[in-house]
Formats: sequence, C-alpha cells, structure tokens
Amino acid sequence: MSDFCVAKFGGTSVANSDAMLNCMRIVTANPKTKLVVLSASAGVTNLLVKLANGVADEAEREETISKISAIQNQILDYLGHPEAISGEIKNHIDQIRILAREAVYETNDVLVDRIVCNGELMSTKLFTEVMKKNGYDAVWFDVRKVMRTDNNFGKAAPIIEVLRIQAQKELSDLVQNHIVITQGFIGSNAEGQTTTLGRGGSDYSAALLGEALNFGEVEIWTDVPGIYTTDPRIVSTAHAIPEISFAEAAEMATFGAKILHPATVQPAMRANIPVFVGSSKEPRAGGTWIRPDTDSKPLFRAVAIRKNQILLTLKTARMVGACGFLSTAFGIFAKHGLSVDLVTTSEQSIAVTLDNTGTKSNGQSILSEALLADLRQIASVKIEEDLSLIALIGNHMSRTPGSESKVFSAIFDIPIRLICYGASSHNTCFLVHSKDGEEAVRRLHVHLLD
Ligand code: ADP
Ligand code: ASP
Ligand code: MG
Repeated sequence: MSDFCVAKFGGTSVANSDAMLNCMRIVTANPKTKLVVLSASAGVTNLLVKLANGVADEAEREETISKISAIQNQILDYLGHPEAISGEIKNHIDQIRILAREAVYETNDVLVDRIVCNGELMSTKLFTEVMKKNGYDAVWFDVRKVMRTDNNFGKAAPIIEVLRIQAQKELSDLVQNHIVITQGFIGSNAEGQTTTLGRGGSDYSAALLGEALNFGEVEIWTDVPGIYTTDPRIVSTAHAIPEISFAEAAEMATFGAKILHPATVQPAMRANIPVFVGSSKEPRAGGTWIRPDTDSKPLFRAVAIRKNQILLTLKTARMVGACGFLSTAFGIFAKHGLSVDLVTTSEQSIAVTLDNTGTKSNGQSILSEALLADLRQIASVKIEEDLSLIALIGNHMSRTPGSESKVFSAIFDIPIRLICYGASSHNTCFLVHSKDGEEAVRRLHVHLLD
C-alpha cells in the first residue's frame, strides 16, 4: 500500500457544502487517495467545548446547539435532506443536548470527549453522503475501531502497536476497493470509551493512520497553500516554503506553528512518509513538501510563536552541590502528565516553561493546585504568565558564528525573559512578554526571512 495516500481536511475545508465539494474534487483527482480524514466543520468543536464545560443558562445552551445544527443543516440542504442521514444528524444533536445538560451539573474530561467527538462524527457522515451524491464509492468508517489510545481523556496518546494491528485488520481491505472517510482527532481506549488527541489533533490522526497502513504519502489540506515562513496572519510578507525537512517541520509544529498539530511529523518521520501541505481552496497554488531531508538548508527558515506560556522558577538551597534535584522536579511534572519545554538552571534554581495554550480538548489551564502543592514540597515556586515563546527555526544555527548576533540585534530593544540555544542546531528559542510577542516575530521576519 506504499502507493496510497491519506488526505486530511481541516475545519474550514469542510465548513459547508461548497468547501466539501472542493475536498471531493481534490480526493477524486488523485486515484491514490484511499483514506480521507476529516476535522469537524469550522467552529463546531469550539461550540461543543463550550457546551462540554457546562452552560447553565438553558436559552444560551439551546442557542449554542442551534449554531451547531445550522452548520449541519446547510450541508443537509445541499444533500436534499435524505431521511437516513438527516436522522443520523438529528441523533447526534439530541445526544449533544442530553450530554450538555449533564455537563451543567458536573463535567469531566470523559464527558468532554463524549461531547466533542460528535463534530467529527457528523462532518464525516455528511461528507460521505456528498461523495455518494456525486457518484463516488465512499464508505464511512468509525476511526474508534482502530485509533486505540491511553486513558488521558482530552489529550490521549495513541497506542501505536494496537493501532497498527487494528488498522491492518479493519482498513487494509476496505481501502483497496473504496474511498474510506473517517474522523481525525478522536479515538477510544481499551474499554471502548471515546477519547480525543487534543485540539488540532486531526493532522496527527492522518499521519498515524498513514503510518499504520504503510501508506506512501500524507496530505494535509488546510486554508493556506503550505507552511509559511511565519503565520501569515501576523506577517503579511510571509511566504510559503516549497520544501522543508522533517526535523525543521517538527520544530515548527512543536513551537507553535498552528498549521500542524505538534506531533504530526513524528509518525511521518518514523515511517519515512513525505507529507504535503496545501490549500483546499486553491489546490493548484502549490504547497509545502515535508521530506526526510532537503537540498537547501538555510540558516534561518521560519519563525513560530506560541502564546500563553507559563514560566515556573523553582528555587531551593537543596540544589547546591546536590544530585537528583532535577530528576525529582521532572518526576513531579511527569506525575501530573505535563511536558516541560524550555529549561534553564542556576546554582539554586531551575526555570521551566509549560505550554498553556489549551492543547487539552477542554481548553482549560494546565496549572493545577495539585501540581503546585507537589512542587512546593521541594522548592519555592514563582509563577509568571502572559509570556510568548518565540522559536527561530533553521539549520546549523548553533554552529554558525554570528547567527545569534543577527537574531538578537533584530530584537535588541525587546526584553527577553529566557533564552534556550544550542540543544538543537535547528532552533533558537526565547521567551518574551506577550505584548512584545508579535512585534518580535515581525522584526525577526523583516531582518532574517523577508
Ligand atoms: P485546519 O483547520 O485546516 O487544521 P488550522 O487553523 O489549524 O487549520 O491551521 C491553519 C492556520 O495556521 C493558518 O490559517 C495560519 O493562520 C496558521 N499558521 C500559523 N503558523 C503558520 C505557518 N508557519 N504557515 C502557515 N500557516 C500558519
Ligand atoms: N476539530 C478538532 C479541533 O478543532 C480537531 C482538528 O480540527 O484537528 O481542535
Ligand atoms: Mg489544525
């Protein structure tokens, strides 16, 4: 199946019937595209998250549900409201209403995932019907049969071995003879409960399925024609990068380029599958190829920004000349399921950054009282919020004399709270106050990437 391609379409690409028709044209133009992974229609997941966090006012709850229904109804209008699919969508809306009422009394991560999964379930059912209406042999598939995850509801981790076995069993034959339409973002644990991979997780789903099925290509179709030198919403002169290496793309995704879920490149890297990123609105506008390696290796390739970062400084005299303090501290973060990003140390303190961008499906803060209580057992804890992490991505940065002076002279008058440099030759990262974040991106772009 190394010839086959999995194509993923994001929320704006499946926002309405016209957008879905664009996707259908892209899928059917490439006979190798055998598996299609969809997000929920644009806006639906946000509305579902709102309901899942508990909307006490009934009128507001109904209004939120109406907004979700309206998006589905526009696509049903195009389909002419056939009985079977109209009934299925109605069942999903009824289910959302019941669970949203439950969430008012008490919500939790399990319930959030039971609610938010409806977005992807509905968009895939509707898209399958759009394909069928146009004469294509499309089959809807419930990805929860194969996308096995752990129990970390809201940000579950895939269990790669089980996923591979299940995908081979359930999908290998199906994709030989049909175009299979399935959901991104959602999965299920060993007990069959629905889980989600975290916001933006559909990119990751597509890459995971491509790996599990030994496909030869992953396509990520979104609302911009490729990965740009920075977020085009921040810098209007940002431009698409024709080709980028796995290592660089992984750094970009990890450090905030929203175009790819942070983990997307991992399965592609493991299985050596090239990934194409393009625009479903302008499929002929080209895009970006993410490949194992590229001929061009510019010193500066792109700049990414991740807002809403937390800096924790742990200070204790116990660190002086002692062994094991770092491992104790990191053990606490691990116990609370948190991954630490940047780390710097001094004689008596360590400073670490945590990403609070609502990567969990419920969008809530990751700083819990339980975590802080555990940390306060070993050190005094200072919390700084309202920070942005800027990552400059490129090649051989830490080995090229003068590269850092180019970076820091571009932002000489912007206060920097912390710098991480040298751990990877592909990135230079630093923290600035939120109010300076976008300005730092603009300056770096003008000086190094325009
Ligand atoms: P989808 O719904 O298709 O998954 P997303 O909104 O998650 O789309 O990601 C696409 C958006 O990512 C773009 O509209 C753009 O604003 C943003 N973005 C951030 N960084 C970059 C970048 N370096 N290149 C392109 N787009 C970026
Ligand atoms: N629908 C989910 C979200 O909005 C997953 C995705 O779009 O990738 O986060
Ligand atoms: Mg996305």
